[in-house]
Amino acid sequence: MAVNISDDEKRRRLKAYFAEVARVDALRRQWQLTYDDRGTDFYLEHGVWPPPPILPSYPEFPAECFDIRCGAKAHSSGEPCRSKDIHKNGRCRFHGGLSTGPKTAEGKLAALGNLKQFTEPHGAADQS
Ligand SMILES: [Zn+2]
Repeated sequence: MAVNISDDEKRRRLKAYFAEVARVDALRRQWQLTYDDRGTDFYLEHGVWPPPPILPSYPEFPAECFDIRCGAKAHSSGEPCRSKDIHKNGRCRFHGGLSTGPKTAEGKLAALGNLKQFTEPHGAADQS
């Protein structure tokens, strides 16, 4: 294992790791949905459930990223941030930046749908 890799390289690997996790997650969800969907048809036809799909496995967490530091340049001192509480983007909660909101049309629609005026009031089911 490489010992002297730069923090930038660590951060790159960390991001790659989380990107891979997200990819596997999406694949697994998709496969599970397909399985649930087709499984019922298979059962009705054959009387037994189909063998479960072989799902892709999650990648191993890169060992070199355990001690990763934020490393962002602080406004006040210019020193690199030493925070070890790192988010998926490889930065700490102060330097990662806030979410800029939904990107896709579906995401924007979902966000709108979650607004207070469009959701059922609490306890609405009890009032019927
Ligand atoms: Zn930081």
